[in-house]
Amino acid sequence: MSSPTSLEYTSDRAEELKENIESVQAEVDQAASSSGSKPRLVAISKLKPASDIKALYDAGYRHFGENYIQEMVDKAEALPDDIKWHFVGSLQSNKSKLAGSVPNLHVLETLSSTKVADLLQKSLPETRKSKLNIYIQINTSSEDSKSGLPPVSSDKSSEVIDLAMHVIQNCPGLNLLGLMTIGSFDASHDTSKPNPDFETLKSSRKELARILQEKGIENAPKENELELSMGMSADFVQAVKEGSSSVRVGTRIFGERPKKVTKAAPQ
Ligand SMILES: *Cc1c(COP(=O)(O)O)cnc(C)c1O
Repeated sequence: MSSPTSLEYTSDRAEELKENIESVQAEVDQAASSSGSKPRLVAISKLKPASDIKALYDAGYRHFGENYIQEMVDKAEALPDDIKWHFVGSLQSNKSKLAGSVPNLHVLETLSSTKVADLLQKSLPETRKSKLNIYIQINTSSEDSKSGLPPVSSDKSSEVIDLAMHVIQNCPGLNLLGLMTIGSFDASHDTSKPNPDFETLKSSRKELARILQEKGIENAPKENELELSMGMSADFVQAVKEGSSSVRVGTRIFGERPKKVTKAAPQ
């Protein structure tokens, strides 16, 4: 078997991946056509070989997402450096430095603490050409199994607001690009009504922008400047219809994933 970072792919596999991503892209475009928006499609390549990524890279795709830090670091080293990596896994503080060191990490989608923000800020290499984008992750479904901060309500004391202010005021190397949610499985499989997770992410963005303005925070982003990362294989069409800026699609592009072998020290 070839090594996981080998970049060699067969033309059959490349063809299959290209067909898959093109059909996903067509559904994204179709869903976006009524709103005139142009959401980004991020191919979530976790547990898939670097050769799959290289095949899509050669077909012109640049945004890829990973869940495990060491896997992203290894793939980033092996693959072209104009790939825009999205880190979508939960980040423990002892791994923050490793994440910040990936020169072409485009956005860390799962920020949920000032501690990790500070560690990232400190870890950014001086050679980095642009700020590191971050999304604050919101646990919109309030499930214990999910990471992220509670949604923003009109109640002004909120961890999301404190974290957003911390990033804006104390982390000059970070850019608050938006909010991210994973959403509940049940909601993602019920298309009969608006998805409550997406509604909650939207209202959190609205409240966050409003409260930052109200507090007179300098350089605070406005509502329309904050992105929403929402939508996965099961629900990206609905997410786009509800205003997603960035969808994260894995299975529909790469096929089913192998089971992650659980190690003693989880990431
Ligand atoms: C794995 C993963 C995805 C992709 O999920 P699919 O259902 O395979 O499309 C998206 N976002 C996050 C945070 C993930 O961990």
